[in-house]
Amino acid sequence: MLTDKFGRHISYLRLAVTDRCNLRCQYCMPAHGIDIVDRAELLTYKEMYRIIRVLSELGVNKVRLTGGEPFVRKNFINFLESLSFNDKLKQVNITTNGASISKYIPKLEELRVNAINLSLDTLRSDRFKLITRRDVFDETFQTLEKLLLSSLTLKVNVVVQPGVNTDEISDFINLTKNKNLVVRFIEEMPFNGKGLRQTDEIWNYNKIYSEIEKEFKNIIPLKNKKSSTSKNFTIENYKGSFGIIPAFTRSICNDCNRIRITATGMFKNCLFDEGVFNLRDFIRKGANDDELKQLFINTVHNKPENGFIAEANRKNKNVSESMSTIGG
Ligand code: SF4
Repeated sequence: MLTDKFGRHISYLRLAVTDRCNLRCQYCMPAHGIDIVDRAELLTYKEMYRIIRVLSELGVNKVRLTGGEPFVRKNFINFLESLSFNDKLKQVNITTNGASISKYIPKLEELRVNAINLSLDTLRSDRFKLITRRDVFDETFQTLEKLLLSSLTLKVNVVVQPGVNTDEISDFINLTKNKNLVVRFIEEMPFNGKGLRQTDEIWNYNKIYSEIEKEFKNIIPLKNKKSSTSKNFTIENYKGSFGIIPAFTRSICNDCNRIRITATGMFKNCLFDEGVFNLRDFIRKGANDDELKQLFINTVHNKPENGFIAEANRKNKNVSESMSTIGG
């Protein structure tokens, strides 16, 4: 089993299937986008399937597929279909911006996809255009509505951006009044191609919670699952719930059960490290499954205790790589 030297059991892989995206969110990349890699540098679906199979034989039973935007990669649905044959996986989840996926929802229900995290940072089309630099709010909102009617578990992820959408926090919570929906507020991070945005106010976990407390008197804390990234709550008599993810504050590292693999095969023990080794090259040099397993076991053993240590251990101290190159 994959266990690090702090006794944390690693059972969750976040895998980016592409660095390409159809949006240009200001907290993720510059307006002109990022220098996407050549297709040959991306892991193939066959390589991804093998990596997941080998990790699932080491106890990884939850996979989140991310990007960029996973649905912009050709034949993504076929890849999902292939994963449905791996019976060691308990959960296959997807993070998407929802701008172009509503037509796939029936198929996702058919396949063994468990949960969708929909990235949606505003309920206003003008502001959507400002944040994403694309005019596809209606398509994205239609996806939200279709997902709400589907059997898929839905969470809406909202990146709280000082000076941009902080006045919509209560609107998002009110979405959970009559809908069995989970809304999660995420602290803005420096993974935007430029580095941490200088803002007048810091909207971290405490600030977000105190803002919610101002609006809602009857907040009920919910029991959090071990390794949950968000601290969860509901409002009395509301159908849904909300959570706050202290992603930049990094107060969730003690129970971290995650590893990441980027679209180019870079293995990350932590979101804040700059990549530990390149899995793609190791595989393309002919590594067999036992060599892969030994590498995973050795590397995970040295997972940093928390995101601050991971950041401190970086050679390039400037944490600014676009989230589209990491996979979130
Ligand atoms: S910062 Fe790193 S160690 Fe902490 S929860 Fe995130 S991935 Fe895990």
